[in-house]
Amino acid sequence: MDKTSYKLQVISHKLGRFKLSLLRSGTFWLDGGAMFGVVPKVIWEKLTPADSRNRIKLGLNCLLVQTGDKNVLVDTGICEMDKKFNERFKLEEVNMDNCLEKIGLTPGDIDIVINTHLHFDHCGGNTRLKREKWMSSFPNAKYIIQKKEWEDATHPNERTRASYLSHTFIPVEEAGLLELIDGDVEILSGIRVIQTGGHTQGHQVVLLESDNKKALYLADLIPTSAHIKIPYVMGYDTYPLETMDKKRDLLGKALKEHWLLIFEHDPEVGLGYLEEKENKIKFNPKG
Ligand SMILES: [Zn+2]
Repeated sequence: MDKTSYKLQVISHKLGRFKLSLLRSGTFWLDGGAMFGVVPKVIWEKLTPADSRNRIKLGLNCLLVQTGDKNVLVDTGICEMDKKFNERFKLEEVNMDNCLEKIGLTPGDIDIVINTHLHFDHCGGNTRLKREKWMSSFPNAKYIIQKKEWEDATHPNERTRASYLSHTFIPVEEAGLLELIDGDVEILSGIRVIQTGGHTQGHQVVLLESDNKKALYLADLIPTSAHIKIPYVMGYDTYPLETMDKKRDLLGKALKEHWLLIFEHDPEVGLGYLEEKENKIKFNPKG
């Protein structure tokens, strides 16, 4: 995929009364081996080629749901840091404001932010530096996070520490914008979060439903369309067997009920449907 195709920064889709916009807020690169866990490179490199440092390109696809009177943003992309960080993860074209601008919104128009979890490539846009102080990027929003995720992010261990950058979530709490939830919750009518565990204990996905149509934002449960097979689980996951169980459950329902699947880290497509043909499950990208 070349840079020009990523110029299509916003992909819109109507789901019943909801207007969905996939905000492609940039790309970054992570170690291909870590991204595919137990899958050997001879297999995964056919799906997604690695660069000279064994990294693969990933999207930062956030989702905006417009209900008619509320703007809900699911995940906020990555944060740009110092040169070393930006080079390590090869950050490219990172710009959430630009995506919002394309649909005529400013950060002040966001009413609710749902963080699927607090890894820096999912909540990096939660905050920004203003006069040398980290502040909430969305001053009128409440930020919805699982209680377990908050506990893990604020008490990281040796294995999880590198994924949590406190300046991307502590200022949200300090501004009084934090709302912790526990388990599966309907945030607004037709917008439901499901706590999946697996990737992290408090990891959640977002299920949307309107007029008998459903869409599932998969976050790090299934990061790209190359990760649909059940054992294709990232090495980063803290509870990989839990990830597999939840994938089996949700993909089964998605196939049966024709859910739109939305992939946060897919560098090319981002959305599409599953289809069963000759006993094989196929993914059909949309748009
Ligand atoms: Zn993650």
